Amino acid sequence: MAETIKIAYLYEDLMNTYGDSGDVKILSYLLKEKGYDTQVDNISIDTDVFDAFDYDFLFFGGGQDFEQTVVAKDIMRHRETIKDYIEDERPMLGICGGYQFLGTYYETIGGDTIQCLNILPIHTVFKADSRMIGDTEFETPWGIARAFENHSGRTYFDDNETVEAFGKMVQGYGNNPEDGNEGLRYKNTFGSYSHGPLLKNENIANMFVEKIIENHKTRVSE
Ligand code: GLN
Repeated sequence: MAETIKIAYLYEDLMNTYGDSGDVKILSYLLKEKGYDTQVDNISIDTDVFDAFDYDFLFFGGGQDFEQTVVAKDIMRHRETIKDYIEDERPMLGICGGYQFLGTYYETIGGDTIQCLNILPIHTVFKADSRMIGDTEFETPWGIARAFENHSGRTYFDDNETVEAFGKMVQGYGNNPEDGNEGLRYKNTFGSYSHGPLLKNENIANMFVEKIIENHKTRVSE
């Protein structure tokens, strides 16, 4: 019988812009090819208890500012388990709004400050002159990735020693218009502004598949 890989999709019903759920579908497809079934659980406002260590992968998609405000009211109760999971080098991917949530705060276009999980030393602000929209291309240690971005938030690293960029921009903005960085990597947690979905880039998807299977093997042997 096939083993089941468990994926926690954080706030799947609220955080899913521009086809981000496609990332999870692509992972399920690639894992199936490797002989695994997948179970995807929506961890949302009606979830009572969530233990990140019950899962092989955490996924957090993008969201509109309004949905991010709704999520912010609920998510703090899961902060410790998400933080422990990240610190324990387990794999996670946050896209756009989900990426912003890993940092300290997000200042919206409407002038609100959304308190985020405060797990990683990054923050996101709004500046009036431009929304960052369009096709992107960036170079990563796993090769070139192509995607699509649409965000008003500009993300900055507060500590370059702790976090590194996921990639270097070739085309588009990425984290902000200034530093040429796309996304973030910390241990096995990744953040990215890439929709499209990101994992249509098979090189990147395969990197996640390897990490997920490795974590699954660790989890079931614990
Ligand atoms: N609302 C956020 C922003 O505009 C995130 C957008 C998104 O997740 N697509 O920056």
